[in-house]
Amino acid sequence: MKTGYLIDMDGVLYRENQLIPGVREFVEALIETGSPFIFLTNNSAPTPEDLSVRLGHLGIPGLSPRHFYTSALNTADFLSETHPACTVFVIGEGGLLNALHEHKIANDGIAPSYVVVGEGTATLEKLAKAHTCIERGARLLATNPDNWCPVSRDDTRPGAGATAAFLEASTGRRAYYLGKPNGYMFHRARRKLADLAGGTLPEETVVIGDTMETDIRGAIESGLQAYLVLTGSTSLDRLAEYVYQPTRVLRSVADLTDELKSGKPSSRLDSPVYAQPQASDTRSLRHPSKRLARLDQPPQR
Ligand SMILES: [Mg+2]
Repeated sequence: MKTGYLIDMDGVLYRENQLIPGVREFVEALIETGSPFIFLTNNSAPTPEDLSVRLGHLGIPGLSPRHFYTSALNTADFLSETHPACTVFVIGEGGLLNALHEHKIANDGIAPSYVVVGEGTATLEKLAKAHTCIERGARLLATNPDNWCPVSRDDTRPGAGATAAFLEASTGRRAYYLGKPNGYMFHRARRKLADLAGGTLPEETVVIGDTMETDIRGAIESGLQAYLVLTGSTSLDRLAEYVYQPTRVLRSVADLTDELKSGKPSSRLDSPVYAQPQASDTRSLRHPSKRLARLDQPPQR
């Protein structure tokens, strides 16, 4: 049975600009076995070409940009499918501008159909302009719901979700959030998997991710297999906090390499993870996709 893989990047392939041990062998096994795979990211700033170069620097060279799908591409796919003649006012960076341009979606700073918010620094001037566009009738669309994004082990930066939340507050309008965990991200990523596999959808699709709120939730809601790896933002002792659960828990993607090569489930799966309690990671308490401050709830601590 052919299996396709949708694989999150940060916390699955690398952390803090370091490739996670065993990732290179895992990617080589995907290529050797002809398994269709796409790397997924909610980061709308880079282009697929940028991501290919970045992975090359980390030690996985030569991957085609066709193996990458970002929330910026998802946003451009969504608009061109649902409203092909629309215009947009954009707060975002190269990856988003490029994706919209490639889909022939025009910029409009006067009366756009949508204000599109992605990753990147939003100046007050741009926010004020976006606010005016929304007050004139533009709809608010965000490439992804992440309120913050990791920069290094100890540092974060504001994400697209935080910028959209600013405009939600100032205009009283609710944004629509694309990217993970939105099912449209997984739907279009699967279509790309089918393109890579010669036009046929793999019989089974496995999502591999490190974050419960985006990767695992989106996979479960889209009816896909959801494999959680413990190399990123989620530790094993926090799993019980979630209503939805991964279909498998792996120490890292390296646990899948032997299975891919042999076609048989690896004996290293499942039990070793549960035998080795993981240290708590307080960052998982404030995942970027969580709303910052629900006024009717005390802060989680
Ligand atoms: Mg991740």
